[in-house]
Amino acid sequence: MPSNQALRPECPYCDRPTRVHRFGRFARNNDGSLQQRYRCTRCRRTFTLATGSPLWRLRRLDLCSIVIHEISSAKSQRRIAFQYQASRHTVARAVRRVADCIRLIGLAEKPHLTPEKILYFDEMETFIHARSKRISIMLAVSDRRHVLAFGFAEFPAVGKLGKKGLKKYGPRPDCRSEERRLFFRQLQSLAAHDCVLITDEHHAYPPLVRTYFPDATHLRFKAMRPRTGDYGELRQGGHDPLFTINHTIAMFKDNIKSLSKKTWCTFKTLRGLRDILTIYAYYHNNHLLAMK
Ligand SMILES: [Zn+2]
Repeated sequence: MPSNQALRPECPYCDRPTRVHRFGRFARNNDGSLQQRYRCTRCRRTFTLATGSPLWRLRRLDLCSIVIHEISSAKSQRRIAFQYQASRHTVARAVRRVADCIRLIGLAEKPHLTPEKILYFDEMETFIHARSKRISIMLAVSDRRHVLAFGFAEFPAVGKLGKKGLKKYGPRPDCRSEERRLFFRQLQSLAAHDCVLITDEHHAYPPLVRTYFPDATHLRFKAMRPRTGDYGELRQGGHDPLFTINHTIAMFKDNIKSLSKKTWCTFKTLRGLRDILTIYAYYHNNHLLAMK
């Protein structure tokens, strides 16, 4: 018998708040946990708290925490599938759903964040599918080394690679200036208007800072010579004023399989790239930075 007590959960099927009753419990198939079912008095449909959420109807719920750890520890999706006895499509689905979940949490937390006072900005390069299909990843990092935001833009390769790419895949747009503008607009909600912005001497950054952060202090430093033998991000010749962002980029390259320097593993789509970066940024901020 459904209880008459009205409860707080909202009906995911109705477009306005309705009365909702408890409507029995059941043991969830994938982990055996007891779940409460609810029924809406208006549309008479039943639902649980998971209905409509990114993790709804995911049978391998155990894969969710696994992919957060493994994707951020330089493991390929196929190897995760092999190790945890799932198909690669199941792992790909778990990656997508987990990334959706993290984005929802991020959206919910955004209004409560205090604006950052000091932030670093830089870009790194990678590719989608083939080395000539270049992608620039934009990254903003706080002085506590938290990843605040990331974005990416397609652009054409230059030189020999560019010629080969043009012949094989046709012309490719350069979206960097447009995407940088969108990224800085997004940064406005994360940083204080009088923040200190630290970048290298790239010619595109000063106009952006003047437009989107007119009250900010923009510190520009010349990029130092890369140290040999690692990711080309850490520098030689003493103190590096851009160490915070350079080290964070080096961590991205070391901990994400498809960003590694010599890898067989490549991003296939922009959506896949966004999902992997979302998961890694979450792991970086909540687990890696807390690690002692
Ligand atoms: Zn309803």
